[in-house]
Amino acid sequence: GSPTVSGDRAVHLQLDGLTKRYGDSVAVAALDLAVPKGELVALLGPSGCGKTTTLRMVAGLIRPSAGRIVVGSQDITAMPPYRRDMGLVFQSYALFPHMTVARNVAFGLEMRSVPRPEIERRVKEALAMVRLEALAERRPRELSGGQQQRVALARALVIRPSILLLDEPLSNLDAKLRDEMRNEIRDIQQSLGITAVFVTHDQVEALSMCDKVVVMRGGKLEQVGTPVDVYEHPATPFVASFVGRTNRLEGQAQGDGRVVIGAMEVRVPGRPGGRVEVMVRPHRMNLVEAVSGGERAAEGTNRLEGRLVRVTFVGDLLQYHVDVGGAEIVVEKASDHGRGFLAVGTPVAVLWRVDDTMVFGRGA
Ligand code: ATP
Repeated sequence: GSPTVSGDRAVHLQLDGLTKRYGDSVAVAALDLAVPKGELVALLGPSGCGKTTTLRMVAGLIRPSAGRIVVGSQDITAMPPYRRDMGLVFQSYALFPHMTVARNVAFGLEMRSVPRPEIERRVKEALAMVRLEALAERRPRELSGGQQQRVALARALVIRPSILLLDEPLSNLDAKLRDEMRNEIRDIQQSLGITAVFVTHDQVEALSMCDKVVVMRGGKLEQVGTPVDVYEHPATPFVASFVGRTNRLEGQAQGDGRVVIGAMEVRVPGRPGGRVEVMVRPHRMNLVEAVSGGERAAEGTNRLEGRLVRVTFVGDLLQYHVDVGGAEIVVEKASDHGRGFLAVGTPVAVLWRVDDTMVFGRGA
């Protein structure tokens, strides 16, 4: 992309060909990335894809094998971590157990020889930001996991870093607390207008909190885009299946918009040819009881007939598992007060719009 501007915001953090090798294996392979000022960017991918290694190189904790890290117009690749002006929050809160909350937060300022009255003012301010003023004199073991993570966040923010780096900060929290903290971190990040990089393997976290999502796989960048981009227009089958749930079927494209999948046929957007993967989001599909077999699909709609093999109730959703010609398709429908169960074995038809069908050439 452009070296200085992405969208209408100036680039704040830039990675150029950032690479980390361990012996013969490559943890991060020539990563290029431009993070605009004030944006929250998620590094998203499965375990081992190189997210943490990337973040630690940005923080200065791991030395890159090749490539550059640029902040503003300054190359900081060789700069030691303590001079980088970055705040770090880890999955394990890494608080000092024998110090009070206030001392934990003050620590970074004491190290920087900030005058005492200013330390007190800024610690207060940082604790207010994470709503922990009342617990300033407690020790970490007297706090819940969520509160400890808030202390870690306050400790990172109190030094007023120009960039905030977060490595799976919510992984140790229960589901409800994680939701709350997502919103809180996002609110704080936006109110400070701070540039932030957030490592996660949780797609919901990445989609719901971040301005941009960087999907990584095997040390490489798979796609960068807004949450809507990567979800609605995944560049590869990997992104389609990692970001959001999806059904996948493999077939032979006919070059005229049809794809033959075993004994079945579906229509896809465009006119691809060769071996393809056809993907459809479960919530884009509908399911009806197939009273008479062999009905034709309406114009612009795909229809596959099959047999219901399982219904799963997950509260807000019903997931229907349908066997269509040996492949299993999952259809999700909003649960209507727990109604809508069909008996296993029921003959059904699965319907979806041709426009809602994603198609990828094999080998992509
Ligand atoms: P996770 O979510 O599990 O932390 P990740 O995406 O953050 O995964 P990294 O921790 O960045 O992945 O690791 C990327 C790859 O580099 C992995 O294959 C890992 O085994 C390898 N790796 C990381 N650190 C080292 C090391 N010190 N020596 C050798 N290989 C390493």
